[in-house]
Amino acid sequence: MGEASGAVEQLVEQLGRLPGIGRKSAERLAFHLLRVPQGDALALAEAVRRVREDVRYCEICFHLAEGPKCTICSDPQRDRSRLCVVEQPRDLMSLEQAGVYGGLYHVLLGRIAPLDGIGPDQLTIDVLVERVRQGEFREVIMATNPTVEGDGTSLFVSNVLSEFSVEITRLARGITAGSVLEYANKEILADALTGRQKF
Ligand SMILES: [Zn+2]
Repeated sequence: MGEASGAVEQLVEQLGRLPGIGRKSAERLAFHLLRVPQGDALALAEAVRRVREDVRYCEICFHLAEGPKCTICSDPQRDRSRLCVVEQPRDLMSLEQAGVYGGLYHVLLGRIAPLDGIGPDQLTIDVLVERVRQGEFREVIMATNPTVEGDGTSLFVSNVLSEFSVEITRLARGITAGSVLEYANKEILADALTGRQKF
């Protein structure tokens, strides 16, 4: 591609930076965007713009939100006596799709990973403790991923919360150890939630 197609080259370069997209795929996507109706291509650009300009973390639970609060924290129908602790917004979305949990969430925005230099201070544990201290929750469900780091994070958080009079449970081990909540199917997640056990 020569001077005349600088815009195309720029698009190919940007697409090629996405995870899993090599040079060939980036070119294919760029030419696809040139062929589809202009409205479709611009809708993609607009969706990217909106997600970066309008989406932020909920100031209460750290889920993704388009205002100060996420849709779950703003929903008066949610059960405010239960709190489910997850690593990432993606995990929360997987659990929501299982459709059996009506309580609130807290997103840690990561897991404790000493080998990657991620300690408890880099997560949202302080805010979680403050939420539990308010005393409205009867149960805190640990729903970190069933990995060594996820389990370690759960253990750390449950120790920190042990000073409060709240029941701490965790998901049943329906999910194969090492698998990630994000990829578990709905039925397995629903079973893991309904069969949760005392920590
Ligand atoms: Zn929220």
